[in-house]
Order: sequence, then structure tokens, then C-alpha cells
Amino acid sequence: MDNVNTLDLKKCIRDVPDFPKKGIIFKDITTLLNNPSALREGCSQLYDLAKDLRIDKVAGIESRGFIYGAMLAEKLNAGFVLIRKPNKLPADTITESYDLEYGKDTIQMHKDAILPGERVLLHDDLLATGGTAAAAIKLIERLGGIVVQVSFVIELSFLKGRDKLAGYDIKTLMDFTD
Ligand code: AMP
Repeated sequence: MDNVNTLDLKKCIRDVPDFPKKGIIFKDITTLLNNPSALREGCSQLYDLAKDLRIDKVAGIESRGFIYGAMLAEKLNAGFVLIRKPNKLPADTITESYDLEYGKDTIQMHKDAILPGERVLLHDDLLATGGTAAAAIKLIERLGGIVVQVSFVIELSFLKGRDKLAGYDIKTLMDFTD
């Protein structure tokens, strides 16, 4: 598991049944992040997917999207933008609401986080129904940003999140099909 050459990132994901609600199998990336080789390998794979895209800003979705999002921003020589739950960001914000796999939620971004015409990579840990990422794309586009890639560590393709993100360049490191 510690050898980079034989490292299977998928095996580093932990399934947690019935979290945060009964019937949900939570895909826990903390077991990937706390393995030094897996952490580095995941970042390297995400970087390879984006390195030629001339990214100005990486936008990460709270909270697990912040980890690789910030690492990627540093490697891409881009700025990092926080997309957060309501009332967490201190300055003027814009807001979008959306449906989750397990409920409803709202996200915000600082009004001055992205400038018109900037090339943005949106990153989160997991693509489920696509509602969160679709709302994040709206925030970025309301500020005039161009979403050039949307990357995730994990895709749950049986939830058809890609359908909600049609027309965007979606990249994922692994897929769970059921
Ligand atoms: P969605 O908007 O349905 O694509 O949900 C994606 C967001 O919810 C991401 O920020 C994920 O962290 C979280 N999420 C949804 N389903 C799961 C799951 N089964 N395991 C872990 N995180 C999840």
C-alpha cells in the first residue's frame, strides 16, 4: 500500500455505512489523505490532468475540496478560492442553493475571488448527484470566470452527476459504479 508503483488509490478509500444518514455509504477520503504515498499520488494525478490548462484559480468546495484544491493551486502556480457553507466567509459574498444526495444546502464565495476572464479549475472530493458542483459553477460564472475543468477524487457514476455538468470537462480519479 505504501509503494507508489503498486498503489491502488481506490483501495485507500474507506466505506462508512449509514453516515451521515441511514442508507448512505459515505466514501471517506481521510484514509487516502493520511497515507503519504497516496496523498502524493492523488495530487500528482490531478496535477497531470490540469497542468496544460493555464489555470489562474483553483476553486475548492468546503471542506474536503480544500485539501487537494490548495495543493493543486500551489503546483499549478494558481490562486486558491474558497467555496464555503453560509456565513463562514468574512467579506461580501455571492450565494447559490442546491439539492444534495442527502438534503439541501447553500454555498458562498467572495465577490472579489475571481476576476472576469480568469480560467478556473473547480475541485471537490466527490461527484454524487452533481448539485454541489453545478451550484459552484454558477458562482464562478456569475463572476465572469471560465470553468476549464471540474475535477474530483471520486465519482459515483450510478448517481449520474455528469448529466448535471454536461458541457464541462469532468475528470475523476476513480469511479464506484454501485
Ligand atoms: P452532490 O452535490 O450530490 O454531487 O454531492 C457532492 C458533495 O456531497 C461533495 O461535497 C461530497 O463531499 C458530498 N457527498 C455526497 N455523497 C457522498 C458520499 N456518498 N460520500 C462522501 N461524500 C459525499
